[in-house]
Amino acid sequence: MAEYGYAGRILKVDLSDGVLKHLDTDVYADKFLGGRGIAAKIYWDMVPPQARAFDPENFLIFSTGPVAGFPGFAGYRWQVCGRSPAGNPEAFSYANLGGRWGAALKYAGYDGLAATGKAGKPVYLFINNDRVEIRDASHLWGRPAFEVIDILKSELGKAVSVLTIGPAAENLVSFGTLITDEGSSGAGGLGGVMGAKMLKAIVVSGDKRLKAADPESLHRLSRRVREMRKPNFRVDVYWDVPGVTKPAVCHGCGLGCARQTYRAENGRSFKHFCQSAFVYIEPVMRYFGRWNEVAMLGNRLCDTYGLDTSVMIGIINWLYACHGEGLLGEISEELGMSEAGSSEFIEALTRKIAFREGFGDILARGILEAAQYIGKEAEGILGNFIATRVGETKDYDPRLIPTTALLYATESRRPIQQLHEPSMIMMMWLKWLRGDDGAFFTSQDFREAAERFWGGAVAADYTTFEGKALAAKMIQDRSYAKESLILCDFTWPMVWADYSGGHVGDPAMESQIFSAITGREMDKAGLNRIGERIFNLQRAIMLRQGWRGREDDVILDYLFNEPLKAGEVYFDPECLVLGRDNEVVSRKGNVLDRGEFEESKSEYYGLRGWDVESGFPTGRILKELELDEVAEGLGGQGLLR
Ligand code: SF4
Repeated sequence: MAEYGYAGRILKVDLSDGVLKHLDTDVYADKFLGGRGIAAKIYWDMVPPQARAFDPENFLIFSTGPVAGFPGFAGYRWQVCGRSPAGNPEAFSYANLGGRWGAALKYAGYDGLAATGKAGKPVYLFINNDRVEIRDASHLWGRPAFEVIDILKSELGKAVSVLTIGPAAENLVSFGTLITDEGSSGAGGLGGVMGAKMLKAIVVSGDKRLKAADPESLHRLSRRVREMRKPNFRVDVYWDVPGVTKPAVCHGCGLGCARQTYRAENGRSFKHFCQSAFVYIEPVMRYFGRWNEVAMLGNRLCDTYGLDTSVMIGIINWLYACHGEGLLGEISEELGMSEAGSSEFIEALTRKIAFREGFGDILARGILEAAQYIGKEAEGILGNFIATRVGETKDYDPRLIPTTALLYATESRRPIQQLHEPSMIMMMWLKWLRGDDGAFFTSQDFREAAERFWGGAVAADYTTFEGKALAAKMIQDRSYAKESLILCDFTWPMVWADYSGGHVGDPAMESQIFSAITGREMDKAGLNRIGERIFNLQRAIMLRQGWRGREDDVILDYLFNEPLKAGEVYFDPECLVLGRDNEVVSRKGNVLDRGEFEESKSEYYGLRGWDVESGFPTGRILKELELDEVAEGLGGQGLLR
């Protein structure tokens, strides 16, 4: 048994017949670490490729990593994976959540939980150490997420950790979320899969504790991480609201970032953080003429109904634009568009979508379907609001940061953990460019970081696709290892730092933390190779589900047709990037060249050891990555080159 860092078992639950089983973590941990890796392997082994998102045969796999349970590394996070209804095409997807729930699962003695089947009536899962029960959840069905958390804690005690879904996921909204402690939410559409299984909540508690193989080294590493990260981390805390919000650190993180909370009028604390804090800001600013606390209500309502804010932000702003252009007809009145920005508007809109009332039923299928329903003009303006084929929000635009084009193209959803790497470093550099107080990350540092983390200084030159295929591969491989350990992408990888060793971080720290916890020897290259294995496994799952390789590795058309506008990227209104010889260049007006993008894909497939024409893996690379059974499976379906 994995003695250090792991609980040792994975719980498998079949909700159709109530049968419970244990899987040995050992069988998976060696080659797939934990988190995304173990979830992907279980998915490959157990789920028939034809299983659709809402079919009982689909699995929902909740998976922690070896770092959960060891404070100080921003590593108490956990993943949920399965086939999602949000994708186009519908595909394997994932979400990464914080809060206590993942560590609590380990304390109960499980590294993960694989749920399949479908219950005959609403149920919740109760896990307390070795006691596992499927319980009636009729009294919880239809209730908003935060209410469910309160009810279960009042019934079972404050010490339990609750993961639940809101009405949106019960009603199979394509972008339904999961919600847990501290308001952490899981996006990507997997909430609906939980709803389809009639699984309203999973309550966990336990008293087992985890052991590290080398506590002294772990302590030393924790001190080093704090030295490198703590004083510099806050990038641009534009979502702070002085006197209203206050810093809040996720359970077990030990580091903190720009995460904030605020106290609502009902006395409960809610998160105020990152993209989700923006979900209703624009309409509120227009309606009130200044910032108003109603902006926070938008995020709160999305979470309590279980709606993905990264999709809702596009929906809200696109609806407003359509209304302005007179494209909505009677729908404008139905939604109360003239009151957009008010509390009444957002209350009605979130409710309509969550309960699929009226036009809310069309919106529940996602913004792309809704735009098709409204008509060509409404479709034509989508590029102002979304970045992905799932309808997720725009932020890390490939016309500004070319590396992100490949990251968006090869994933079934917005791969935020990857997108942060080439964009957050840029935010640090922009601070220096503006001459902000305490800014330290120079153009030279940027180029050095690109050499160290992305395979060459040219990757820091955002005016060209040159070097971006290698950068994208390196970012993905590292990210898949990180998503399996699991470490928070607000801290990892430590690309920049301001410490005695300079301004550029250390890409070897993740492997050192892993070794100190598990006692297993690992270096940077070994960890990245495992990440590469997991990425290839995910690719194989997606291909088996119908992803067509090169044909489906696409980004939205507007990126090739519509010039980048000033102010379109929130953190870089003037569209400034670093050029080849340290010159500063504005990318205002830039569009991507389709030919260059396709060439970059070819280079990327070559670097991955895939067939350049089709984008399908080769038997050679899968065998090198010790994925022989995957090669065999793909070969049998004609999906191997
Ligand atoms: S770095 Fe921020 S988001 Fe990540 S675990 Fe820590 S507090 Fe949470």
